[in-house]
Amino acid sequence: MKHVIIGNGPAGVVAAEALRRADASADIVMIGDEPERPYSRMAIPYLLVGNIEEKGTWLRKTDGHFESLRIREVLGRAKSLDTASRTVHLEDGTALPYDRLLICTGSHPLRLPVPGIDSPNVHSCWTLEDARHIAAKAKKGARVLQIGAGFIGCIIMEALASRGVKLDIVEMGDRMVPRMMTSKAGSMIARWVEQKGVTVHTKARVTAIRQDGDALVATLGDGKEVVADLIIAAAGVKPNVAFLEGSGVACSTGILIDERCETNVPGVFAAGDVAEAIDFSTGERLVNAIQPNAVDQGRIAAMNMAGRSTQSQGTMAINVLDTLGLISASFGQWWGADGGDAVEMIDDKRFRYISLQFKDDVLVGATSIGLTDHVGVLRGLIQTRTPLGTWKERLMQDPLRVMEAYLSSAQAQSAAPLAGVAH
Ligand SMILES: Cc1cc2nc3c(=O)[nH]c(=O)nc-3n(C[C@H](O)[C@H](O)[C@H](O)COP(=O)(O)OP(=O)(O)OC[C@H]3O[C@@H](n4cnc5c(N)ncnc54)[C@H](O)[C@@H]3O)c2cc1C
Repeated sequence: MKHVIIGNGPAGVVAAEALRRADASADIVMIGDEPERPYSRMAIPYLLVGNIEEKGTWLRKTDGHFESLRIREVLGRAKSLDTASRTVHLEDGTALPYDRLLICTGSHPLRLPVPGIDSPNVHSCWTLEDARHIAAKAKKGARVLQIGAGFIGCIIMEALASRGVKLDIVEMGDRMVPRMMTSKAGSMIARWVEQKGVTVHTKARVTAIRQDGDALVATLGDGKEVVADLIIAAAGVKPNVAFLEGSGVACSTGILIDERCETNVPGVFAAGDVAEAIDFSTGERLVNAIQPNAVDQGRIAAMNMAGRSTQSQGTMAINVLDTLGLISASFGQWWGADGGDAVEMIDDKRFRYISLQFKDDVLVGATSIGLTDHVGVLRGLIQTRTPLGTWKERLMQDPLRVMEAYLSSAQAQSAAPLAGVAH
């Protein structure tokens, strides 16, 4: 059996290793297009903070690790896919035939259509190469403008702040992390980071960038100008699917996969940031661009490629953020369900917040700030779809009683007789 994996990020690496465990004799090829050892983008902020060196970002640190598992690494870029002849074509002309293919090519940062975006000292923060450029410029006291305050933007901001730079953030939405946090929560985070000395421009866009001597000048939509030594563009990402044009592999935003992580083309699988899976909460489609999801899907895809039928329950939105010391989280259908009930509690002074979203007596989504003890419980209640019974009304009165609700409902569930078991 010939397995080809395109992409050597967390999804690709975990899949390659799982395939080897499942099949000692399979031929496994893993393609990566960056001239680096397989690494984790998620570790880049730690590198920028200075907690780790580059080696700390590597997914596997032992020399010869992949060779010892007989996983052949190929440096190259997939240019096209011929699903009829089951062949991956690389840009350098290499043709790689496969029996089973896994696509885990991740995504790429969006290039903003702004004049001057290609100026030197304007960077994304996506690759190790980007991190090297940023580390060279983001010295103590440097002026940094970051475009975008989404999930990844906030993580980068945390790393930049720790380097002692003077930071401006420009966000199009009316709050920070608008695609992950309710309006009240996103505004509370903005207030917190402003107190920590970051200048936040919400409902704002950069319309042009120009060079002024060594500095960059960014013009905002309202005419305001921000002078910076470094600009970081973190305004969203897009799955790497362009090379699949004409291949017959169905894509929407990402590659559409089923519960087995298989695409519409039999034998072709996808996992991680490039894949658009079924959302656990809504049953609709979701590109869930976080590392734990990439790893789960990589493993599930590998099991199915090796002939061991394995299914995902669906992918669930799980977002946990540390923004300059303020911990926030959102889970599942945090924005609410049609016809559902909701409760929200805000403590502006202490930077505490909770919002619970119910469908009937089941918790389907939640957002919280500053309530770290509750994070596991919120996730657990949503993921197990536990019927809360009378606890729902109690939570509507006091959402902070989630721990009690969890213990009481979980115990009630474990005490219930198992259906179909004869005693
Ligand atoms: C700064 C930063 C911080 C982050 N922090 C967190 C965090 O705290 N928590 C979290 O859960 N997630 C975080 N993430 C997101 C996380 O890194 C991604 O979800 C994860 O990397 C997805 O893994 P993947 O294997 O799907 O894709 P990737 O890691 O992107 O790997 C894809 C690989 O495929 C290669 N490739 C692409 N196209 C081709 C091609 N045509 N041919 C060959 N190779 C190709 C790419 O070069 C890349 O090496 C962060 C991301 C960034 C950038």
